[in-house]
Amino acid sequence: KKITIAIDGFSSTGKSTLAKQLAKQLGYVYVDTGAMYRAVTLYAMQNGFVSESHLNKEALIQSLPNVKLHFEFNPDLGFAEMYLNGINVETEIRTLDVSRLVSKVAEISEVRAKLVEQQQEMGKNKAIVMDGRDIGTVVFPDAELKIFMTASPETRAQRRYDELLEKGQSVSFADVLQNVKERDYIDTNREDSPLVKADDAIVVDNSAMDRTEQFELVLNIVKD
Ligand code: C5P
Repeated sequence: KKITIAIDGFSSTGKSTLAKQLAKQLGYVYVDTGAMYRAVTLYAMQNGFVSESHLNKEALIQSLPNVKLHFEFNPDLGFAEMYLNGINVETEIRTLDVSRLVSKVAEISEVRAKLVEQQQEMGKNKAIVMDGRDIGTVVFPDAELKIFMTASPETRAQRRYDELLEKGQSVSFADVLQNVKERDYIDTNREDSPLVKADDAIVVDNSAMDRTEQFELVLNIVKD
């Protein structure tokens, strides 16, 4: 039986790693919704609609029809990459600059409405693993399996810091930790679709579990 798997939680809890592993193992489609919010943020940055000090919400909302997003499977990587208006933006959307601004953009209801609609369309009648913040609560409230991932801010910042260093980006641990905490705050306190655990979600705290343990745990639940 093909099901919908919703994986939500705080940033850098290893959601996408788990989601990708599951999708691969089960032969499901994986959708990273954070990449979509990041791509809209990149678009807003490129057009001067958002920076550290300002947000031109109206201009961004007006331009939303010009923002075309799609995923394209890259067989070499084994997952789909994000395209913004036909251009592969997989690298640009992962920078700390985008991470710093994305929660501001993700707060805008019109942005959320557009992306949620596209996500629901992508998941229609498909065996899918989708990760984000509102998948089990808003995008697929009827998902057969919901996972909510959490870990301490320090654990998550360390993971993010290691990833950025690996990619050759020069950042300080303090900046990364601050960004993790800021995003937690904005994501859990925004008015539209705040980050909350769905009542029927299973909590996976990965400060206490390694990646293999998490994967085995969730895979066993899917098989039941
Ligand atoms: O998952 P990732 O950390 O890449 O997501 C980046 C940001 O996009 C989050 O901090 C959050 O502000 C926003 N987001 C969201 N809803 C989703 C996915 C991501 O608001 N479903």
